[in-house]
Amino acid sequence: MNSGRLPYGRQDINQDDVDAVRRVLESDLITQGPVVVQFENALAQYCGSDFAIAVNSATSALHIACMALGVGQGDTVWTVPNTFVASANCARYCLADVDFVDIDPKTYTMCPDALASKLEQAKTTGTALPSVVIVVHFAGQACDMRVIAQLAERFNFKLIEDASHAVGARYENKPVGNCQYSDITVFSFHPVKIVTSGEGGMATTNNKALAEKMRLHRSHGVFRPEPGSGRVDDEPWIYEQSSLGYNYRMTDIHAALGLSQLQRLDEFVERRHQLADRYVSKLDHLPFVLPYQSANSYSALHLYPVLVPASEQQASVRRDLFDYMQSQDIGVNVHYIPVHTQPYYQQLGFRQGDFPASEHYYQRTISLPLFSRMTDAEQDRVVNCLEVFAHSLGVRFAA
Ligand SMILES: *Cc1c(COP(=O)(O)O)cnc(C)c1O
Repeated sequence: MNSGRLPYGRQDINQDDVDAVRRVLESDLITQGPVVVQFENALAQYCGSDFAIAVNSATSALHIACMALGVGQGDTVWTVPNTFVASANCARYCLADVDFVDIDPKTYTMCPDALASKLEQAKTTGTALPSVVIVVHFAGQACDMRVIAQLAERFNFKLIEDASHAVGARYENKPVGNCQYSDITVFSFHPVKIVTSGEGGMATTNNKALAEKMRLHRSHGVFRPEPGSGRVDDEPWIYEQSSLGYNYRMTDIHAALGLSQLQRLDEFVERRHQLADRYVSKLDHLPFVLPYQSANSYSALHLYPVLVPASEQQASVRRDLFDYMQSQDIGVNVHYIPVHTQPYYQQLGFRQGDFPASEHYYQRTISLPLFSRMTDAEQDRVVNCLEVFAHSLGVRFAA
């Protein structure tokens, strides 16, 4: 803003959003109430899913998704290393084991071939096959869901799409979240994502039983029996706890913001595409690898990760670029430190070198600023800095 510092991502809140939140604050109900239901219905309609369950974060949505699919001790859940830790942690909450499938070096999302061969190998060696696979639509671009869903069928596992980056994205020209190829899709409304509710998340599904389970798990496992069922007549105040749930409810305050933001979702994604196209046209001549856009999907462009040139010094070049951009008040970031290299996962037995594609990608990647309110002038400043850096790099490699 006027501080002059450009963040890598930032929310876009307008007066309509503020008014929507104010209306809830001035109403009688401020916790989970009618606006949460409106937000759920609006997102389900946008995605083309039968059900949507709003919660207080995508992390909570991932947890109740795993619970609804019956993930527990003795189960194994597979995901990718190139993601935020929450994609793996949700399985650990359920006491399941976690394993990883490496990424495709072109798309940075789960490599279907790596998944297929890991499944084959698990089958032949008798090691644990996954009960659930969580794919991540990294940077807003959908994974190859058609192929992965065929594997789910063949090897009998359930599929969760972690679409935290991908609300507003399309796959095979249909909205991500329609669950055509998966059991459950999860979205995040954290302020750096595409649309925000402050904090918040949503799970979509076409399976009524899964939807009902997730609704129970988000609210203590407690429900009110229908009028007419035996106990209600004797104890009209009755509520019953049938399982061990949590308090993962979204409030109407947050839902009002999310619902209002949803009106501008397509606009936000279009602006991100304009900016990404500008990056392509302006960075074309520089030695950075720009993110690949697959033909069968329309990315929500949550992130714009570029790679420094592959070389012996790639890790130090990326570090220099990071420092240089920060010194110029440009908020670059790195997505992601491979999850299996985190100390917590190292304690579980994972080692550096286990997933080389994710690790190589990590050494070279840096996310450039990209958000709907970024101006062309702000973007030009990013481009100028990259030009200066690339020039110094040329001098350095020539030396
Ligand atoms: C942001 C993010 C999450 C967690 O979202 P919250 O709403 O902050 O809990 C999970 N997975 C991925 C891939 C994310 O980027």
